[in-house]
This record gives sequence, C-alpha cells and structure tokens, in this order.
Amino acid sequence: MMKIAYLTVDDCPSSDFKRKVDFLLLKNIPAIFFCIGKLMEKRKKVIIYAIKKGFIIGNHSYSHIPFSKLSLREAKREIKKTDEIIEQLYKGAGIKGPIKVFRFPNLDKGDGNKNYPFVDWNNPKVRALQEYLRKLGYRQPKFKNINYKWYKKAGLNRCVDVDCTYDSYDWTVSDKSYEHGIKTLKDLLSRMDEDVPEGMRGLNFKGSSDIIMMHDHANINGFFVPMIEKLLKKGIKFQGFI
Ligand SMILES: [Zn+2]
Repeated sequence: MMKIAYLTVDDCPSSDFKRKVDFLLLKNIPAIFFCIGKLMEKRKKVIIYAIKKGFIIGNHSYSHIPFSKLSLREAKREIKKTDEIIEQLYKGAGIKGPIKVFRFPNLDKGDGNKNYPFVDWNNPKVRALQEYLRKLGYRQPKFKNINYKWYKKAGLNRCVDVDCTYDSYDWTVSDKSYEHGIKTLKDLLSRMDEDVPEGMRGLNFKGSSDIIMMHDHANINGFFVPMIEKLLKKGIKFQGFI
C-alpha cells in the first residue's frame, strides 16, 4: 500500500517562498501555504504567482501571535483581516478561491496548547473561534484515511481549522527551542525514519495518511528541499486537497 501525505507549509511567505513554490512545481507536489497576513502584504506578487500555479493559500492569522494571548475580539480581527487579504489576492490572480482553510499560529486553538494534541473543547474562546471560522466559510479539506487514534481522540479530524499529523519540527531548529534535542537537518531527517504512529511520528506507518507541517523560515532555507526529497525517497505520494 502506498503512503499518502498532504503537504502544508506554514509562516509563508519568506524571501525564499518563490524558490519553494518552484521546487514543489517541479516535483508536482500540491501544497497548502498557510500565510501570515502582514507578510503577504509585503510580498503580494509571489502569492499571486503561487495561486496561479494552483497552490492553495491558507489563513495563518495576520501577525502570528498565539491566540491564547489575544482577546477573542483581537483574535477574530487577526482572522478577518487576513481573510480579506487572501480574498484580494485571489481576485488579483483572477482565480476563485477553491477552499478557505485556517491554521492557528503554533496550533494554539485559543486554550494555550497546554496539552497538545488534546484541546480544551469546553474553553469558551476555543468554541467561539471554531464558530467564527465556520461562519466565515472555513473548513478542513476532505483528508482521506487519516487513521491515527490520537488524532481522532483529540478531535482534530472534526475541528474547523487544519491541524497536522506529522510536525516536521523544522521550526524548533529555526527558533532554537530544540524540542526533543533536534538541532540539525540530520536530526530532522532521521526523525522521519522513526516509527511511532501513536506518538505523532507515523511516516513509516502504512495504516494512515499524514498531514505534514513544514515551515517557510528564511533561516532554515536549506532544509526544505532535502526534507521533501527524503519524503519522496520514502515513497510517499503527495495528494491534492480538492
Ligand atoms: Zn506558524
């Protein structure tokens, strides 16, 4: 059985964004780019370029402040402002947005992420944000065969926003948090060989598809291509979203 994965790239667009777009085009890999509103304002052209090439632009808030640190009103503003920017850019590309997708900064759905992947679904802010996104027309793409028990137990298959099943941890190197001792490209690549499906490292588990999260961080530019190439070498087939 072939391993299927969906690629998502967060915190776009950096100065390296176009190079990533062109590389994925060359490899025929579809992706959602979860973009930060204030960065898109600075690099409109390259977003329009990605839209025209068939990539999906997702909303990743305006300024990437974790939503547990914002009031509900501020959080909604972060979503709406970016929603409008994306709409304008699709208009500029002359293409109708195929789907509205949202990812929370730091995957913080408003409860501070204290027990990730588990979410406090009774938290009023968490509930209000899910409701607000739904009202704006956001939804998850129809991911097929995501079968991890932890993922379903946490409710990540039922939320309005897009979470992930494989966090590449590239961000831990770029912000020097070094979670789980990951410090180099080599560490990131060898983590991909781990086989702990119920511990959020299931790339070698054929019983489920994966939603992979990577980052467009300028200081780890050199990591993107080798990480994708490693995934391809594993025989992973990247799937479109619509
Ligand atoms: Zn982010």
